[in-house]
Amino acid sequence: MENLADRQKSWNKTLNILKAELSAQNFKFWFGKARLGEESEDKLIIEVPSTYTKEQINTKLRGVLEKAIEEGFNQKIPYQLKVNQSLEGNKGDNVLELSSTYLPQNTQISGLNSKYTLENFVVGLSNNLAYAAAQAVTQNPGTTYNPLFIYGGTGVGKTHLMHGVGNVIVKKNPALKVIYCSSEKFMNDFVQSIQTKKTGEFRAKYRNCDLFLIDDIQFISGRDSTQEEFFHTFNELQGKNCQIVLTSDRPPNEIEKLEGRLASRFQGGLMVDIQSPDFDTRVAILKAKCQERGDLLPEECLTLIAENMPTNARELEGKLLQIIQTSKLMHQPLTVESIRNFLGQPQPSNKQIDQKKVIPTINQYFNIKMTEILGPSRKKGFVIPRQIAMYLLYEECKIPYERIGQILGGRDHTTILHGVDKMRNEVNNDREIQKMLLEIKQVLASN
Ligand code: ADP
Ligand code: MG
Repeated sequence: MENLADRQKSWNKTLNILKAELSAQNFKFWFGKARLGEESEDKLIIEVPSTYTKEQINTKLRGVLEKAIEEGFNQKIPYQLKVNQSLEGNKGDNVLELSSTYLPQNTQISGLNSKYTLENFVVGLSNNLAYAAAQAVTQNPGTTYNPLFIYGGTGVGKTHLMHGVGNVIVKKNPALKVIYCSSEKFMNDFVQSIQTKKTGEFRAKYRNCDLFLIDDIQFISGRDSTQEEFFHTFNELQGKNCQIVLTSDRPPNEIEKLEGRLASRFQGGLMVDIQSPDFDTRVAILKAKCQERGDLLPEECLTLIAENMPTNARELEGKLLQIIQTSKLMHQPLTVESIRNFLGQPQPSNKQIDQKKVIPTINQYFNIKMTEILGPSRKKGFVIPRQIAMYLLYEECKIPYERIGQILGGRDHTTILHGVDKMRNEVNNDREIQKMLLEIKQVLASN
């Protein structure tokens, strides 16, 4: 068997499971003084203070204990109870020890990951609705929005948000029972329970909780018997006002081979989607992840990564880690240049920009006509491209103001001076402009 420390850990886990299964009084009475006995090859020796306790556990609590051991030790192990009267004087210290460790261990059993909280979930335009819904659920679980159905592409934070809900609820009330599982685990558990003829246990487990978090429900598609079982689980839980939260990569009506009655159940509460994070949210997520890890990166570096990884939060985080680790390995400080190298992005300043291409490229980027960028209109849709043109022609192509004025449809040099100045300011303060400029420069550099 495992070493002593592992054995003790598994035993503690077993006790926690028992504590979750039994009422507080019963637990204290039957297992409050129990302790792990000497090590034995093929069975678990558990010491209890009296013959009476031993007999009662063996007759009344055998099933519960066996199940808790199996879960606590991750395998089926027969147990043997031994009387050790000296434990009688032992003032039920299992209970004392447990009350302090109960919370985190309980969350472990429920499958919750304490790393994912609502506090460290970055809220932005792409996810604020889902975040608000998650918060509402934690305030009135089981009543207002039941079920809560969160959907969105991969890596956008669905799982994170779901654990966040669970963590708030357990923190508020540690006695509540939370189950977090993927729909695949639900399915595997169900299939296994049929094979081992333990569907009763399966149902006892999944139909007795206060919060049921089921991740990636789309994988249930096409599994008829699992869908049937899930339907009944769902109904029973909902009937008991158990809060249900589901996530999926798409809305219910787009999940192929999903029974109609399930789809309509899923739509019966609140459905919210999470979009890919916009630029500001990506920067904020990067900042948060750096803070969590205690890594300090200059703001401009984070901006650069966020600009070049317009994808999901998971990839963003992965890239950030990769960059940080590489720089540590190579003892290189993290600077805009080193990150550019890492991202494999051409250094914009290295290549001379062809001035003749500047205006056509900008027109193409903003989808506007030559007459519009050169013309007199002060519409924002034309002014910004025009000012970007001024800025690039001046800063990158080193063309004097007067000449730029001529190129841009005969404008006065003070207009150009003003435009360049304004862009210089925006480049430092406006992220959208930063992003546009970078993308335009990239096109220009690749031509
Ligand atoms: P999904 O379940 O939608 O595929 P996850 O919840 O697993 O995505 O998120 C992937 C990673 O991105 C996780 O590490 C998560 O913490 C992080 N993440 C996603 N969205 C956010 C957010 N808004 N704030 C903080 N971290 C986020
Ligand atoms: Mg997920």
